[in-house]
Amino acid sequence: MAGTLVLSAGCGSPDSGDLTPPFLKSPRDGAAPAPVVSHPCPRCHASAGVRHECGRTQWCERCLRDAGAGHLCKTTELCTKCWGDVGTRHLCGLTHFCTLCREEVAPNHQPARRAAGCLTRFCSQCRMDVGDGHICDLTYFCPRCRREVADQHICSQTRYCPTCSKEAADYAFCPTCSTRLGTRDLSGQTITCTGCGKEITAAEHTCPFTFFCTECRREQRAGHHHAPSPEGAR
Ligand SMILES: [Zn+2]
Ligand SMILES: [Zn+2]
Ligand SMILES: [Zn+2]
Ligand SMILES: [Zn+2]
Ligand SMILES: [Zn+2]
Ligand SMILES: [Zn+2]
Ligand SMILES: [Zn+2]
Ligand SMILES: [Zn+2]
Repeated sequence: MAGTLVLSAGCGSPDSGDLTPPFLKSPRDGAAPAPVVSHPCPRCHASAGVRHECGRTQWCERCLRDAGAGHLCKTTELCTKCWGDVGTRHLCGLTHFCTLCREEVAPNHQPARRAAGCLTRFCSQCRMDVGDGHICDLTYFCPRCRREVADQHICSQTRYCPTCSKEAADYAFCPTCSTRLGTRDLSGQTITCTGCGKEITAAEHTCPFTFFCTECRREQRAGHHHAPSPEGAR
């Protein structure tokens, strides 16, 4: 019996001139999930899925999708703005994925030198990478000292004091004449001060009795101040 061939509606119907192959179209809202097969791209001839971008994505056979730069199977997602493979907390133009700590991080990220883990993590409020003990809007990470520091920080000379919320001396000093004596481990030890020649107990920053004077660049006793410079005096 010669049956009549009935075409199901819509199938093979001539389209309105859109020549983009279906697999190159972005899935619309509510559309069926992306097909998990690749086709050769008509332009670059590489394997391509629905989010293929010539020269920027590569088809991943394991994840069955187009992958961007830095793709880590089953871990990252393609960002169709920067065409990188990124983490869930990606902020395009600001963060990128660190394959060591597996987090989105800022450009000032300090990657791990060993397996112990990266030194910094992204702070969404300050929009930069920060270290342990970070206080928003107050401290930032110094890559040279490898810790959080505050305004007026001087590398290897000052350290952030959480008590007075300021940078303070990071060394032992003479409480009598404020001469810098050496590393912090000297503090509390009785030594002869190289500045005043007295036998003293070396101190370190002790707020509120001492503070780091940014003009002398050393720890000074409370009350220490500099006379205003005679500007305009001729
Ligand atoms: Zn292509
Ligand atoms: Zn993959
Ligand atoms: Zn992006
Ligand atoms: Zn990292
Ligand atoms: Zn912060
Ligand atoms: Zn520093
Ligand atoms: Zn202090
Ligand atoms: Zn002294």
